[in-house]
Amino acid sequence: MHLVMIGGSDAGISAALRARELDATADVTVVVADAYPNFSICGIPYYVSGEVTHWRNLAHRTVTDLEATGMILRLDTTARRIDVPGRKLQVTGPAGQDELISYDKLVIGTGAIPVQPPITGLTGPDALGPGDGVHIMHTMGDTFAVMRTLEQTSPASAIIIGAGYVGLEMADALTARGLAVTQIEQLPEVLATVDSDLGALVHAELVGQGIEVLTATKARRISRAASKGRGRLCVQADGPSGGAVERAADMVLVVTGVRPDTDLAQTAGARLGVRGAIQVDPAMQTGTPDVLAAGDCVITHHRLLGETYLPLGTTAHKQGRIAGENALGASRRFAGSLGTQVVKIFDQAAARTGLRHYEAVQAGFDPVTVQSEADDHKAYYPGSHRITMRVTGDRRTGRLLGMQLFGHKHAEIAKRIDIAATAIFNNMRVEDISDLDLSYTPPLGSPWEAVQMGAQAWDREVLRLST
Ligand SMILES: Cc1cc2nc3c(=O)[nH]c(=O)nc-3n(C[C@H](O)[C@H](O)[C@H](O)COP(=O)(O)OP(=O)(O)OC[C@H]3O[C@@H](n4cnc5c(N)ncnc54)[C@H](O)[C@@H]3O)c2cc1C
Repeated sequence: MHLVMIGGSDAGISAALRARELDATADVTVVVADAYPNFSICGIPYYVSGEVTHWRNLAHRTVTDLEATGMILRLDTTARRIDVPGRKLQVTGPAGQDELISYDKLVIGTGAIPVQPPITGLTGPDALGPGDGVHIMHTMGDTFAVMRTLEQTSPASAIIIGAGYVGLEMADALTARGLAVTQIEQLPEVLATVDSDLGALVHAELVGQGIEVLTATKARRISRAASKGRGRLCVQADGPSGGAVERAADMVLVVTGVRPDTDLAQTAGARLGVRGAIQVDPAMQTGTPDVLAAGDCVITHHRLLGETYLPLGTTAHKQGRIAGENALGASRRFAGSLGTQVVKIFDQAAARTGLRHYEAVQAGFDPVTVQSEADDHKAYYPGSHRITMRVTGDRRTGRLLGMQLFGHKHAEIAKRIDIAATAIFNNMRVEDISDLDLSYTPPLGSPWEAVQMGAQAWDREVLRLST
């Protein structure tokens, strides 16, 4: 059995590792366009900040570790075309030579590519060119380019276009390096993955850390600054009521989301689905004979929403593992995502799982969302922090639909959202959360865990609404 995986990140490597784990006789080849297989791109902001001291430390596993599992790595090798009837993959190797690799099963894990918004100066004839201090942030190559700008031009200021989680992490990282940061976001509030009430708390943290945050502001042009001194680059934008906004800085980072990288799959005849991602079934089969796909290039099966597109590293790992197993003939199914995610913003963390209020409305539920606060541990023990919670449940059935948390980075926000994720995964009602037997000691928790207090606040509000 010869398996070929395209892509050396979370999905492709997870597929290869699983296949080798299950069948030590399987011949597994991973084709990777660059020289950085199994790097944790999620860790890039922490290398830029200086907290991770060397880029090599971002590797989940080294090339030697990977090869020790028995997989063959073809680095600096780009997959060009899939010959589906002939079960051959055409690749271009490091020296530019073309070659055909035969396969019995193929797993596509080409991931996603950054969205390039229609900003003059970023794309098209006015593009500023290499070394201009304008960057995107997705691959290790992008990271090296950012580091060159930081180390060779010592910028004093940066404009970040986009205030999703990567934009926020980069605001944190560049501030840690001493740059003055302006964040421009076209939506009314930062971090649109949480309800705007929590987004406002994230916004306040950014401002408190010295970031200039411009929301409801749409960047439309990047150019070289006319006057020296204020910064090398100028970003022009349309402000909240259409008024012109202009800021200058020494570097600009554009982090406005990603789109699935599907050219290869599409030319091989794979169908595309939501947001142009590869249509796969829960077994990660594309419907094209002997071709599976996983990760940021495919649609995401969501436990509450059905088919959606939610590119996340956690999901890519799971889908890749399933694709690797099924490439060997198994019939594992991806159980579905809940979009569970967490982000650290300076000293705070924001997390969510399941549906935000408006998503629940759109999905046909009758949601009630209740915001409340609780301490992360007994307040009499030093160092406690308040946690803000938003619990969304269905008024008719009492089912937990979503939870969002905001609080100090040491308030176990990530693991607390995982309680909610587990509850939603198991179709629990909000009131069932109070029945969970959770741990307690005063320095680390409360007899009623904070998430249980959030659930009880929801119960009280629903009771009040019904009487
Ligand atoms: C800065 C940053 C921070 C993030 N933080 C988090 C986080 O905290 N939590 C989280 O869950 N997710 C996070 N993510 C998202 C997460 O990194 C992605 O969801 C995940 O990497 C997707 O893995 P993937 O294997 O599907 O695709 P990708 O990581 O996009 O990798 C695609 C791979 O395919 C290769 N490739 C593409 N085309 C070809 C070709 N034609 N031939 C050969 N090889 C090819 C690429 O070289 C690469 O190896 C973050 C992303 C970024 C950029």
